[in-house]
Amino acid sequence: MDSASAFAMFALGLAFGSFLNVCIYRLPRDLSVVRPGSACPSCKQPIRFYDNVPVLSWLLLRGRCRNCTARISARYLVVELLCAALFLACYAHFGLTLATLKYSAFGFLLLGLIFTDAETKLLPDQMTLPGLVLGLLFSVVVPVNDLASQLLPGLVSLPVGAEVSWRVLSVIDALLGCAVGASFIYGAGAIYLRARGVEGMGFGDVKLMAMVGAFLGLKLTVFTLFAASITGSLFGLSTVLVVWIKRTRRRRLRHHESAPEARRRAWESAAIALRRHQMPFGVFLGSMAIAAFFFGNQFLRWYWRLL
Ligand SMILES: [Zn+2]
Repeated sequence: MDSASAFAMFALGLAFGSFLNVCIYRLPRDLSVVRPGSACPSCKQPIRFYDNVPVLSWLLLRGRCRNCTARISARYLVVELLCAALFLACYAHFGLTLATLKYSAFGFLLLGLIFTDAETKLLPDQMTLPGLVLGLLFSVVVPVNDLASQLLPGLVSLPVGAEVSWRVLSVIDALLGCAVGASFIYGAGAIYLRARGVEGMGFGDVKLMAMVGAFLGLKLTVFTLFAASITGSLFGLSTVLVVWIKRTRRRRLRHHESAPEARRRAWESAAIALRRHQMPFGVFLGSMAIAAFFFGNQFLRWYWRLL
């Protein structure tokens, strides 16, 4: 990895991150991401090119609009930096290969979906569906190398040359990941709806996992699903605990309730808050999918050895 190309990847990541911020704001609102140019969400004043430089402009203006001084979310800065770090990490991990292009594109879409889901609880089709197609297309040029590629050649021999057959197997692997990812979330959502009477996962999550499966294949898709369930549950649990502790303290101070009484009542209200609160599960699926293509295989190898 030479420093000139590393710097170029980082700069490219900043530019793509800047565009991604536009997508995160506009796609859930059904606005065009091309026209008009960026404007302040508060005073609608168009943003000048010199105030639109990734990271630097936000820092120089201290996160405020030059015209009306309304606050500009730190998300703009965070997404630009994360996208740059992601592009750089892909280059460092996969080198100057088509895999770097594939995972930069995949990570770019995932970052967009993570932040859109966190802010609006929506996973726009304009990101997941082109992502699904892109994942399938990439499987033709970058081997997914999952179960079909590893097991099928021992069972059947395809009537095509080696140069063609690995591509066919790779596409099968992508389709397999896609089918398993989507149907697992669909099934989990149906069970959740039956059990609790509220929608826990929507079709957005199903399409997200179809896209993830197409990029990652079966094994890493399963890794993503389990890692997201664990991190999501831990997050939900710690949120309830924090709410419980805060409300207990407030009840004791304001209502002068005894400690056991305050704890019991605070627990009841924290449980209700959890039930009403809809967790943006796409945030966990998306971030674990990013973890999967960097560390998933290493983790699975380590896990097999434990068994
Ligand atoms: Zn403004």
